[in-house]
Amino acid sequence: MIKVIAPNNRWISGSILVVAIGLTIALALPSNFSGSSDPVVVADAPQELTVANQDVGAADLPIVKVPVAANLGAPGTEEKIQKFKAQAANIAAQEVARLAAEKEKKAAERRALRAKYTVNPARARISVGYGRKGRIWDLGWHTGIDFNGDYGDPVYAARVGKVIFTGWRSAYGRTVEIRHLDGVVTRYAHLSRTRVDVGQEVDVGERIGNIGATGNAFGAHLHFETLVNGKYKNPGIWLWGND
Ligand SMILES: [Zn+2]
Repeated sequence: MIKVIAPNNRWISGSILVVAIGLTIALALPSNFSGSSDPVVVADAPQELTVANQDVGAADLPIVKVPVAANLGAPGTEEKIQKFKAQAANIAAQEVARLAAEKEKKAAERRALRAKYTVNPARARISVGYGRKGRIWDLGWHTGIDFNGDYGDPVYAARVGKVIFTGWRSAYGRTVEIRHLDGVVTRYAHLSRTRVDVGQEVDVGERIGNIGATGNAFGAHLHFETLVNGKYKNPGIWLWGND
């Protein structure tokens, strides 16, 4: 395995010293540092090393060929390990980035899909429709749809959107307003409680508050409105495609 050649000058003798030191370092390293499973290299090396150590500086020293030391991974091995580790870290980082991009893409697809859904803002029958005339309303007509739920029943965001108002609005009492992707604003009034904050993104069907009787309300119900550029529109058309 290891070739022994007679040296012919002092420069070679010096090389022997370097190689011998290299071999000593190499043998001191754990065997897995070499990356080789060839047991012959390890078995042969000590014998040659003994000869080299005994005769350092002598004119007739044998030369252990450098490639053997390189195989054992002495000079430059640490550099190689660091390079390999850097490559492995780079591959891992790329994989993490790829998975994150994939996750974000799926989330965007899910959002796009959910943006197509509409749900009723309350699970209750309609007690008063849109446009009914009557002196009990400030404008002389009913500007929304009333859902006749019980006090404390959940109120849901009718579509995906962003909360633009939560708080008290005189006759409406405790109110939540959401702007949706189509620009329509939905208003949920007379709530006993609000469960969202301004600026919050809400999912379709997400609970945003509870039915109550705050403001001008004779009993617990949800007053639901749709507004386009601040003007009342029939919520039934937006919710169900008809009134
Ligand atoms: Zn109403």
